Amino acid sequence: MADAERSQAQRWDVIVVGSGLGGLTTAAYLAANGMRTLVLEQYDVVGGCSHVFRRRRQFEFDVGVHYLGDCGPGGVIPTILRGVGLDQKIEFLPMEREGFDTLIFPELTFRVRAGWDRYLQDLIDVFPEQQRALRRCVGLLRKIAEQAMAAGVPRGALDLLTAPLRTPALVRWSRRTVADLFGACALSEQAQAVLAGESGTYGAPPSRASVLMHAVMMDHYLRSGGYYPRGGGQVIAAHLLDVVRSHGGRVRTHARVEQILIEGGRASGVRLLGGETLRAPVVVSNADLKRTCLELVGPEHLSRRTLRRLRSMRMALPLFCVYLGLDVDLRERFANSNYLIFPSWDVEQPYADCYAGRFPERSPVYLTSASVKDPHTAALAPRGCSSLEIMAMAPASHGFWQVEDGPAAGERYSRKAGYRALKADVAERLIDGAAELLPDIREHIVWQEAATPITLERYTLASGGTSYGLEHSPDQWGLRRPRSRTAIAGLFLVGASTFYAHGVVGVMLGGVACAGAVLGRNLRAEIAEGRVYGDPTRLKAGGPGWDPLAASRRLAEKPPAAPAGVR
Ligand SMILES: Cc1cc2nc3c(=O)[nH]c(=O)nc-3n(C[C@H](O)[C@H](O)[C@H](O)COP(=O)(O)OP(=O)(O)OC[C@H]3O[C@@H](n4cnc5c(N)ncnc54)[C@H](O)[C@@H]3O)c2cc1C
Repeated sequence: MADAERSQAQRWDVIVVGSGLGGLTTAAYLAANGMRTLVLEQYDVVGGCSHVFRRRRQFEFDVGVHYLGDCGPGGVIPTILRGVGLDQKIEFLPMEREGFDTLIFPELTFRVRAGWDRYLQDLIDVFPEQQRALRRCVGLLRKIAEQAMAAGVPRGALDLLTAPLRTPALVRWSRRTVADLFGACALSEQAQAVLAGESGTYGAPPSRASVLMHAVMMDHYLRSGGYYPRGGGQVIAAHLLDVVRSHGGRVRTHARVEQILIEGGRASGVRLLGGETLRAPVVVSNADLKRTCLELVGPEHLSRRTLRRLRSMRMALPLFCVYLGLDVDLRERFANSNYLIFPSWDVEQPYADCYAGRFPERSPVYLTSASVKDPHTAALAPRGCSSLEIMAMAPASHGFWQVEDGPAAGERYSRKAGYRALKADVAERLIDGAAELLPDIREHIVWQEAATPITLERYTLASGGTSYGLEHSPDQWGLRRPRSRTAIAGLFLVGASTFYAHGVVGVMLGGVACAGAVLGRNLRAEIAEGRVYGDPTRLKAGGPGWDPLAASRRLAEKPPAAPAGVR
C-alpha cells in the first residue's frame, strides 16, 4: 500500500478499543450511522468475555454467555439487535419454563420460574410463615426495577431534582444493600438465601450488593425467563462484527492499544503495542476502566479528584470455571436449567472467604450446559455427549494464585508449579460440588480444563480477572458509575464498569447509550420507536455452514471492507 493510501486507510471517525459486547455494540451502531469505525482487539478472537473456544473439534465452551433474560419479542436484547438489522439473524432459545434456574439447598430445591407474580407465589408456597415479609420484599424489588427501567439516565438537573417524586422507591433504596432490604422485611435466613440465590450473576453478597443491582437483575430474568442464543455464545459478537464490516468499518485482532493519545486536552487516536499510531477524533474505550484511565490515558490527563476516586474503586469478585466434555447426553439427567448448588444456607461466608483471599471450604457451584440449552448446534458437543461449565466465585488477588505481576503486565505464569497445583485443586473442588447433582460425573469426563481469574485477565486484561466490572455496591452503582462521556473531549467509555453495568444486556445497553453520546442522539428512544440504522441487506453473516467462531478470529491481516456507499 502506498503511504498516502495507508494514511487515508488509517483515518477513522472513531476508534473503539476492545471488542467486548459493549465495544462491538457501540461500533455497530456507529458504523451503521455512517461513521468510519475501527475496532482494535488485543486477543485473537473478538467478543471479549462473550467469546467461545473449542477443543478436539468436539466441544465448544462459553466463557461468559450462559443465559440471557428478556429475549422474547420486544425484549431489550432483540430490540438492540433490531436497531442494526440483526433481529432476524439471531434466534434465542427459551430455557425450561418450569425453572430456568434451579437452586439446590441442603433441604430444599427451588425452581425459579418466569414472572414476578409466580416468583412471589412460589416463594410463599415454600415459606408460608414468611408470607408478609416476602410480599413486602418482592413487591419492593419489583417496584425498584420498574422505576429503574422507567428512569434511565437522568438528562439534567431537572431530572435529578424531580427523581424523588417520579421514582421514590428507586431513590429511597439507592444507597442501601440487599441485606438492608432483607433486614427491613424481616426475612428468615432460609428465605434470604433463596432470594439471594442468583447473587453470583453480579458477584457480591447481600451485605455488599446494591438493592438496585439485585432488582434489575431479577427483573431482567423474571420478565420472560432465561434464553440462550442458538449457535452458541459467539453468534452475538460475530453478527455485530458483520454490521461493522458491512458498513465500512474494520475490526483488527492482535491489536493491543498501549496508549490513548490526548492532544490539546482531547482524544486524538491511539498508539498500539509495537508503535503503530492510528488517528481519530473520537476514541471509545471498552477496555477495563482502571487500565483505560491509569495506563492508556495516563494520570497526567486526569484531575486529582478523578485519580483518587479511581484508585479507591473496588472491582467485583471474579469467577473460576471448569469446562468439561462428557460422554453422556445430559438431557437425560438435566432439565434445560442452570443448577446452583449451595452447601449451606449461609450466603455470606463463601464471599467473605474470597474477599479474605481464601477459596471457600464449601463453595456454592453453578452448572450450565450449552449442549442442553442448544441441542441443535453440532459444534457444541458430539451426538450423545455434552459440554458442561461449572463456575464459582473466587479470590481475585495475584498473591492467592501465586502469580506476581500478572499476565496483563506480561508475566508468563501458566507453567508455574504453585499456580498449576492450586488451579487443579480448585477445579477438583468444583467437580466435587457438581457431583452432588451428577454423582457419576467423573466416570464420564472425556475433556477437562479450567480457567482462573488470572486466565480471564490474560484474555481480557480485566483488573482482578473480573468480568463484572466495578463491584456492584451502593457506593459504586447507578449515578456513581462512570457514564459514556468523560471529562476529556472525544473520549468515551463503555462496558461492565459503566452506568448500565455488566452482563450481556448491561453492556449492550451501554453500547447503545455510548453510540448515542458520540452522535448526540437518544438512540435508545429511537430504536424503541422502531428505527433501524444502516442497510440490513448488506449483512452477510449467518446461514448454512456459517461458523461464528471462524468469522470472529484472526482478523489481523484482513483488508478493510469496501466502504461502498458509506462516507
Ligand atoms: C464465567 C462468566 C460467566 C458469565 N455469565 C454470564 C451470563 O450467563 N449472562 C450474562 O449476561 N453475562 C455473563 N457474564 C458477564 C458478561 O459476559 C460480561 O459482563 C460482558 O460480556 C462484559 O462485556 P464488556 O463490554 O464489558 O467487555 P469485555 O468482555 O470485558 O471485553 C473487553 C475487551 O477489550 C479488550 N481489550 C482490553 N484492553 C485492551 C487494549 N488495551 N487493547 C485492545 N483491546 C483491549 C479485551 O481483550 C476484551 O476483548 C459472564 C462472564 C463470565 C466470565
